[in-house]
This record gives sequence, C-alpha cells and structure tokens, in this order.
Amino acid sequence: MSECIFCMVANREIPSKVVFEDEMVLAFDDIAPQGPVHTLIIPKDHYADLGDGVPTELFGRLMDTVVRVAEIKGIDTSGYRVIINSGRDASQTVNHLHVHVIGGRQMSHGMVNFAENS
Ligand code: 5GP
Ligand code: ZN
Repeated sequence: MSECIFCMVANREIPSKVVFEDEMVLAFDDIAPQGPVHTLIIPKDHYADLGDGVPTELFGRLMDTVVRVAEIKGIDTSGYRVIINSGRDASQTVNHLHVHVIGGRQMSHGMVNFAENS
C-alpha cells in the first residue's frame, strides 16, 4: 500500500470524484475547491514534481487533459486558470505532481495574486 495520497487516489485506495481518466492520467475534483470548478489532474505513475524526470509525452497528456476537463466541466468558453505548484517555495503540499484546473468564477488579474482566492 502506497503512502502517497495521490498514488492512493490513482489506485482507488481512497475515493475521489473522477472527472476523466485514461491509461496515463486521472482527473478528479479537489477536496477543498477554490471555485465552482476545481479539478486536479495527476499522472497515474508517481512523480514528485515537475523536476522529477517527467516524460515529454506525459506533459503533453496532462495539458491535453486540462483542455478535456474544461470541456467536460463546461468552462472551456468562460475560461479557467491552470496552476502547478512545484516544490517548497510554491507551497506544494502533496508531493505527487498535479495540475490544478480552476474556473467557474471571475479571478483576479495579475501575478501577485495568481494563486489566491480573490
Ligand atoms: P498543492 O498545494 O500541493 O498544489 O495542492 C494540493 C491539493 O490537493 C489541495 O488543493 C488539496 O485540497 C487537495 N487534496 C489534498 N488531499 C486530497 C484528497 O485526499 N482528495 C482530494 N480530492 N484532494 C485532495
Ligand atoms: Zn504518488
């Protein structure tokens, strides 16, 4: 049994609201949503962060899945924000690479509050 919480999600050892999956990635709703839509996309294999030797094909698949999730959630036209927290200074809290897709509400402009709620 894995000790990584997102490996456990990928292995269905803990439940999640799955939005989409294929053989490489799993998309599921965040447990503490920062907007009407807040979905996380993870590789099914464990990579700690962006610097963990992620294959180019997987990067592509993750971004393809962002677009797909936006369509599934109905925010492809209204827009959405895509965030990857990678490492300590970004306050990454789960050390299994994941892409946040947040939308369904107006977000603030600019980089300072890039990942904040307002
Ligand atoms: P980070 O700060 O590492 O970029 O984001 C981790 C995200 O994972 C947070 O938004 C948090 O709410 C979410 N999260 C943490 N544990 C769980 C869980 O067990 N299930 C789900 N669905 N989301 C989780
Ligand atoms: Zn993991």
